[in-house]
Amino acid sequence: MLTTQLSKGNAYDVALENFDTAADVMELNQDTREMIKYPERVLTVSVPVRMDDGRIHRFEGFRVQHSTARGPAKGGIRYHPQVSLDEVKALATWMTWKCAVVNIPFGGGKGGVTCDPKHMTQGELERMTRRYTSAILPMIGPDQDIPAPDVYTNPQTMAWIMDTFSMNKGYSVPGVVTGKPISLGGSLGRNEATGRGVFYTVESACEHLKMHLKGATVVVQGFGNAGSVAAQLFYEAGAKIIAVNDSTGCVYNRNGLNIPELIHMKGLCGHVEGFPESEAIRAEELLALECDILIPAALENMIREDNANAVKARIVAEAANGPVTPAADRILQNKGIFLIPDILCNAGGVTVSYFEWVQDEQHLFWEAQDIYNRLERVMKTSFRDVLKIHLDRKVPMRIAANMLGIGRVAEAVQIRGIYP
Ligand code: NAD
Repeated sequence: MLTTQLSKGNAYDVALENFDTAADVMELNQDTREMIKYPERVLTVSVPVRMDDGRIHRFEGFRVQHSTARGPAKGGIRYHPQVSLDEVKALATWMTWKCAVVNIPFGGGKGGVTCDPKHMTQGELERMTRRYTSAILPMIGPDQDIPAPDVYTNPQTMAWIMDTFSMNKGYSVPGVVTGKPISLGGSLGRNEATGRGVFYTVESACEHLKMHLKGATVVVQGFGNAGSVAAQLFYEAGAKIIAVNDSTGCVYNRNGLNIPELIHMKGLCGHVEGFPESEAIRAEELLALECDILIPAALENMIREDNANAVKARIVAEAANGPVTPAADRILQNKGIFLIPDILCNAGGVTVSYFEWVQDEQHLFWEAQDIYNRLERVMKTSFRDVLKIHLDRKVPMRIAANMLGIGRVAEAVQIRGIYP
């Protein structure tokens, strides 16, 4: 419990601090800062749900549109006991800069419901999702604001949202969400897009640092959608995944874990703990393991001032959003660790979400290889763009990525001007 509380911090303070740091280096004028720093729209909703035992439980939900300057707001929906308005505002802010970094025509948004999905039945989850969707209905739509999966939401959740929205419109609107099942207009490659994007940016980083992926040692914190797909791709590339964890425990094998079997086991039992030929270690030990690549793929504020010194990786690739606090950032930097910041590293998910939205809008679907090729091009071009700012301006990778994203949003806002 103590660890959970310690690890929370306030993600929105981190988002604002990161903005200010980049804006200062860019010498961004005060008027533009005022226009782009804060969310455009914030909605808090009450979500009453009839639970299976007959009583009514009221959940609290949020949807935040941080920016629509470059296009419709875009961002996932999170179901987690620690969801708060500040967390959603932070995640929406990061979505704005992320979409701009990979140069897709979206702004930033995010949503969430404070709940404990692990202790809810499918029926309760469906009723909560449909009521939450009804509550945020005026804000979402394919040209307005397009939700997607995030922590503890999945393609089934998106199907319920799409159906609820469509029933209200009177016709099917697949483009209202991305990350849908393929049978409802989802895109091939969306489910593994975030992990695949992480892999492409790490490939680029290895090329830049003249490191070999084959034989490299990798540690993954968080073995969900983003973490497990990334682990699988590193495994296929010949890297050794020496440790992974999830919310229930950590598994370690110095000679490398068999990732396809671990994914199979997690699918069957819902946890990684007890995996054959592995040793159980503590979460703090996992972060401190000697390795080439560390991939935080769980939640915010996992690497902080109090544990950053223990990190011994050469590359930290942020599959999660906001896993490293600003104080920890400075420590990692002083240790010479190469950081691939979240708004670049995990942008593969939103990039394929964009592909999905385009396919839905034009009613024409692409082949998987086509999607992988396009994704690789976007991720590697974006990596090069950020690296160039990092090297030319001599700023850390996170500031470089923020400068790229913030600069593009600032340009859009300046050209659009203020209405009325
Ligand atoms: P998920 O629900 O599929 O997986 C989350 C994983 O983290 C689970 O395995 C869970 O057990 C584990 N976890 C939770 N608390 C933990 C803890 N304290 N220590 C270790 N592991 C813990 O979620 P996901 O979609 O993979 O998202 C993970 C991160 O990636 C989040 O920060 C999310 O915002 C970010 N992200 C996801 C996507 C996407 O497309 N799924 C896109 C961009 C960013």
